[in-house]
Amino acid sequence: MATPAAYQIEPLEARQKKYAHCIEELRKVLKNPEKQLVLDHKKLLRFGIDESPLDPVAPAAAVLPSTIEEAAAVVKLCASLRVPMTPSGARTGLEGGAIPFAGGVVIDTVNLKRMDFDVENACVWVGAGVKKLALNRECTKRGFLFGPDPASNPSVGGMVSTSGSGMSTLRYGTTRENVISLKVVTPAGDVLQTRQVVRKSSAGLELTQLYIGSEGTLGIICEVCFRLFPLTKYCRRFRG
Ligand SMILES: Cc1cc2nc3c(=O)[nH]c(=O)nc-3n(C[C@H](O)[C@H](O)[C@H](O)COP(=O)(O)OP(=O)(O)OC[C@H]3O[C@@H](n4cnc5c(N)ncnc54)[C@H](O)[C@@H]3O)c2cc1C
Repeated sequence: MATPAAYQIEPLEARQKKYAHCIEELRKVLKNPEKQLVLDHKKLLRFGIDESPLDPVAPAAAVLPSTIEEAAAVVKLCASLRVPMTPSGARTGLEGGAIPFAGGVVIDTVNLKRMDFDVENACVWVGAGVKKLALNRECTKRGFLFGPDPASNPSVGGMVSTSGSGMSTLRYGTTRENVISLKVVTPAGDVLQTRQVVRKSSAGLELTQLYIGSEGTLGIICEVCFRLFPLTKYCRRFRG
């Protein structure tokens, strides 16, 4: 399916020229620009597609930050130079949300791989790039079960951004009901944690629920604290 007319953008070369200053500055904020900054046309097409029927759009550049601080530096830079940004996870979305229609920079979360379990409090901090099945495997090893179950094995950042759900929803809820707190990079490049992990704490604005389902429009979700369930004696996962 063709790209919507509202999103007709300049050819890639013209965009890379237009954003040349930003691209040069990106090299400076990334620890390993050779691996974390993609500019090759063929490779860029892989960052401009999801599972929707829409045509791919090559971004001017793709950036793969490996820490939340790096993600914040990238966003701060792009925001200050007014370069459009599109966050992406596993690109299994069916609606084109991860396609960079504005033609700027894709911020791919694949390298955000933190996984820190708090066994006593039955929760885990996970990097946005960790995929659902990988998280499930680690949960099982520790006697836990991760509730939300979209069939496509998405990234947890993508799951939160779309509030993905699956066959286990009736028992465990959608992603929305399983998030305790988020660490996000705002569109201006600031890092914030949406709330304390301690559940009795009720101070401050309810930003967690605002970010869940926001489809990449309110910033980059970099780390997620999920609640976990005890692994049941009889447990079967459904796969679509
Ligand atoms: C075969 C198949 C089966 C599916 N089954 C289900 C299902 O059972 N249930 C269901 O709910 N969905 C399902 N989906 C849809 C899709 O898998 C979900 O929407 C999933 O949650 C998307 O996650 P992702 O990592 O692939 O995100 P992407 O497709 O990469 O991105 C989706 C949106 O989230 C944004 N985004 C991604 N990561 C971040 C981030 N870290 N911070 C901010 N924004 C971000 C993107 O900009 C985009 O707008 C299915 C898709 C396929 C192809």
